[in-house]
Amino acid sequence: MKVNQTIQNIHAPAAIAIADGIREMESQGKQIFKLQTGEPCFSTPEYIKKGMVKALESNQTRYTYSQGIPELRREICSSLNTKYGTEIAPSDIFITNGGVSAIHYAIQSVIEPGDEVIIFDPSWPQYANITSLCGGKPVNVSTRANLCIPDTGLLETNATPRTKMVVLNNPNNPTGTIIPGDTLNRMIKWAYERNIYLLFDEVYDHIVYSPGFVSALQLDNYPLYRDNIIYINSFSKTFCMTGWRLGYAIVPEPMKGNYLKLVQNSITHVSAPTQWAGVSALAEMEAHQDEYAAMLGVYNARRVEIMKLLQEKSWEYIHPDGSFYYFIKVPQNVNDFVTDLLNTHRIAVVPGIAYGKDFADYFRMSYAVDDVSYNGFVSWLKKY
Ligand code: PLP
Repeated sequence: MKVNQTIQNIHAPAAIAIADGIREMESQGKQIFKLQTGEPCFSTPEYIKKGMVKALESNQTRYTYSQGIPELRREICSSLNTKYGTEIAPSDIFITNGGVSAIHYAIQSVIEPGDEVIIFDPSWPQYANITSLCGGKPVNVSTRANLCIPDTGLLETNATPRTKMVVLNNPNNPTGTIIPGDTLNRMIKWAYERNIYLLFDEVYDHIVYSPGFVSALQLDNYPLYRDNIIYINSFSKTFCMTGWRLGYAIVPEPMKGNYLKLVQNSITHVSAPTQWAGVSALAEMEAHQDEYAAMLGVYNARRVEIMKLLQEKSWEYIHPDGSFYYFIKVPQNVNDFVTDLLNTHRIAVVPGIAYGKDFADYFRMSYAVDDVSYNGFVSWLKKY
């Protein structure tokens, strides 16, 4: 019997598919150095777990508002408004099952059949997949000639009258690059003049190693551009909560009705105890700054160590200022590099082709991994 062809035609995201393959290899007793996954190696901080336990003990186990509990939306507002000087209101915020569903609802809320979404490659594959699932047309634009940084010139050349949205992932997965603030300001002006939405995915906004990061919420004239800006964030990376599935979106006024209907008709709302854990995560974040600083310190020490090694060996890579990935060019004349790395050296990374057809000669490795995997990679690289 026939099934939906659009769904059948999209590929499973590579990092997820590889992780499933590795579980299979591990079940056969093989040890794998796992650098393919995009999640912090640290456990969720204890105070957040306690927040959930407290919620369970006080029977916060019933249906909540679809948009999310007011306490969580208030915490999010207060943290963003303090950080960026904005005036976001709890009514602007929608709580979702991780960043991925925040993105899905955002794209589905605005895209109609045939509408185009510009996605800068290398890109997290779900942007294009979700666009296709929503009946839109992903327009993948390579940033290879521009050191993997998007710019307005690329928008000019690739926009058509059907362009409805542009996705900006800042800091970036898989490259770790950060888009300069002046570029972002030019892009939002460009989008505003053409009635195009910019979707800002800032799930790595706390994992930044240099002072250059500018959030969508900090753009010049932000209040003027609010109706063009969709802001996505998540608790997954900042708070080491990948498995909890907690994220959120700030969406423009005209989109809110659609967005709410999508939440109501898919998940009803995010699990109540998880939302309460999110309240604790934010409310007590300040008191746990040292814990977060220590995590960032570990990521950064690894980032610096790998950079040094890559430079010593004259390997090409994209310079990362944020997130916890390296996007590295495969050494010349090495075919099937990623497959060989896994089969011969038991090191799992993600082939660059997963992030854009222009990047088949790259691979992505995460350094937010367990010590054994990290050390396995480093000693292989040293010997290479
Ligand atoms: N956006 C980017 C760029 C990501 O890398 C990820 C996860 O890897 C997400 C969004 C979604 O994360 P989550 O759904 O766990 O919040």
